[in-house]
Amino acid sequence: MTERRNTRQLDAIRELLAEERRPLSIEEIYEGARRAVPTLGVRTVYRVMHRLEDEELVARVAIPGQPDRYELAEVAAKHHHHFHCIECDRVFDVQGCPGHLEKMVPDGFVLDGHEITLHGRCNHCA
Ligand SMILES: [Zn+2]
Ligand SMILES: [Zn+2]
Repeated sequence: MTERRNTRQLDAIRELLAEERRPLSIEEIYEGARRAVPTLGVRTVYRVMHRLEDEELVARVAIPGQPDRYELAEVAAKHHHHFHCIECDRVFDVQGCPGHLEKMVPDGFVLDGHEITLHGRCNHCA
């Protein structure tokens, strides 16, 4: 594989993540980026995502019981939470944070961070 083709695949995937404005699964990235790069294979998507992750250009979004999603590092850098639609399986960013979660931890425990995933139906599926 030539470096040029590689770059085209990388760009197509980063553009897709920027356009969709939500965390995408490997399958969604494959389906979406294939429109720009028809020769793209799903194994290449895995390889590109690992490379983008190594280079800290994307971050993994873990949803319990779901395949990992990926979001751009600059999106991940801003504290936010996610909404998982149980109908279409899409994951969306949600704004806001309940905060003050240190009140929930037992005495003597130190809270370093939190992740919150809301579940339900998106505006398309509700
Ligand atoms: Zn939905
Ligand atoms: Zn939060």
